[in-house]
Amino acid sequence: MSNAIIVLNCGSSSIKFTEFEFGDGDAMALRVGGALEGLYGRARFWARDARGQIIAQREWDETAPPRHADGLQFLFAWLKENVGDAQVRAVGHRVVHGGTTFSGPVRVDPAILAELEKLAPLAPLHQPHNLLPIRAIAEQMPGLPQVACFDTAFHCTAPPVAQAFALPPSITNRGVRRYGFHGLSYEYIAEVLPRHDPQAAAGRTVVMHLGNGASLCALQDRRSVATTMGFTAVDGLPMGTRCGSIDPGVILYMIKELQLTPEAIETVIYSESGLKGVSGISSDMRELLESTDPGAKLAIDLFVYRIGRELGSLVAALGGLDAIVFSAGIGERSPAIRAAVCRQAAWIGVELDSEANERGATLISTPGSPVRVWVIPTNEELMIARHTRALIH
Ligand code: ADP
Repeated sequence: MSNAIIVLNCGSSSIKFTEFEFGDGDAMALRVGGALEGLYGRARFWARDARGQIIAQREWDETAPPRHADGLQFLFAWLKENVGDAQVRAVGHRVVHGGTTFSGPVRVDPAILAELEKLAPLAPLHQPHNLLPIRAIAEQMPGLPQVACFDTAFHCTAPPVAQAFALPPSITNRGVRRYGFHGLSYEYIAEVLPRHDPQAAAGRTVVMHLGNGASLCALQDRRSVATTMGFTAVDGLPMGTRCGSIDPGVILYMIKELQLTPEAIETVIYSESGLKGVSGISSDMRELLESTDPGAKLAIDLFVYRIGRELGSLVAALGGLDAIVFSAGIGERSPAIRAAVCRQAAWIGVELDSEANERGATLISTPGSPVRVWVIPTNEELMIARHTRALIH
């Protein structure tokens, strides 16, 4: 019988899952992946096999909305019945915040779980939802090992100045500093980079994780030295619905002049800004690219402009640049955004091969380009599965 690891990524109303199978060797193969979306309402379940074919779908009606615990129970029963006979050895979780304590993945026990729960104020919109399934599984399947993998951990290598805010110690001593996020994605790219570009892997690379959430990370010798997200995942680039960096004075203006409550401000900066807020149309880059509305154009222009500005800042932190890597939904699948970003980065020595970019090649810079440009699909789930396997052995 082979072994399996289940990777879970839980949000406020969704559970994304992936099951990986492994034997005695190092290889891990994806067996099935999918999601339960719309928990606490009209929930929907779907699953795809390793070839991307939908193999199951189910909907719940509004009168019996499943909670996270119900969703997990359903999911484990479904996996047991439908996904072969592999023995589930452990569950790996994506957890957004490891704070200053956790600089790498950790096997969760009750004391660790209590520590992680104390970090909730640092990521109130994500951390409680990430931890909920850990507690539910500990209750439903007490013997099953669980591992927490953090979005912040990869950035622990950044020098102290890159992590510091210019605030007094009475505030920074409470853990207020730049943590950075998307660490599992950057860790995966850092791991595969030597296969594509050994010189950049040993040198200076900026990785662009451009999905619904978006950030950039400066890698020196494959270690994070700077990143655009900070204390929270709302900092840096404008995103699908998040505003990215704004003058802190804007927050004061919202409090004092607009009399907005903290909750209302949270909703504005996390859910009503970014591509969606600027365009007034959608947070989905595909819809904006298809639209002729001036709002859509402004949202795209602002997204690209801010990437250019932040890229310049990271190149300064690195003292030069050998390669750029595009990744995540927009980075992997939008030739138009990649072309616009590369046009803006011509001053650093980026020369785009337009034909390779349109074709979806892995290397999309010209042979003579001083800075090489790569498109590398990220795989945060595989990273979590590998960490989980390593920690249970
Ligand atoms: P998440 O951060 O939720 O994991 P993804 O990495 O899947 O998100 O990225 C989602 C984003 O990618 C959305 O803005 C979506 O519009 C965009 N996207 C997906 N496919 C394309 C495409 N072919 N062209 C442009 N944008 C795309």
